Amino acid sequence: MQRKRKMMDTCVWCESKLKDGETDIEVNIAGEVVIFPGIKCKICPECGEKYYDADSEQQKHIDEITHRLHTHYKGLHLRRKLSRSGDSLLLRIPRDVEREYGLNENIEVEISAYDKKKIIIEVV
Ligand SMILES: [Zn+2]
Repeated sequence: MQRKRKMMDTCVWCESKLKDGETDIEVNIAGEVVIFPGIKCKICPECGEKYYDADSEQQKHIDEITHRLHTHYKGLHLRRKLSRSGDSLLLRIPRDVEREYGLNENIEVEISAYDKKKIIIEVV
């Protein structure tokens, strides 16, 4: 993906006249691909190079959402070591997460395998 500060009329590679078009923009946020469909851009009819207007409302919207999601995921990312007690493997839940989700020792959670590296813990 190429972003140019100034919108131009001709392709920098082959100097063809650019046409108005739409495309999907993919943004990688914490390992998840978020797709923004139908983003206005200029496309080179020869080589297919796409040019985006970094100052457009659409682009600002994408930047804002991307920033917010990054901040959100960062806030939820924690690294914890597992420990063992007898036969059981223990995962300690940090105090701020306990408070945020209203957890206590009487609450039931559902544990499900998401993929080979992700386990989801849901409050039921
Ligand atoms: Zn071109």
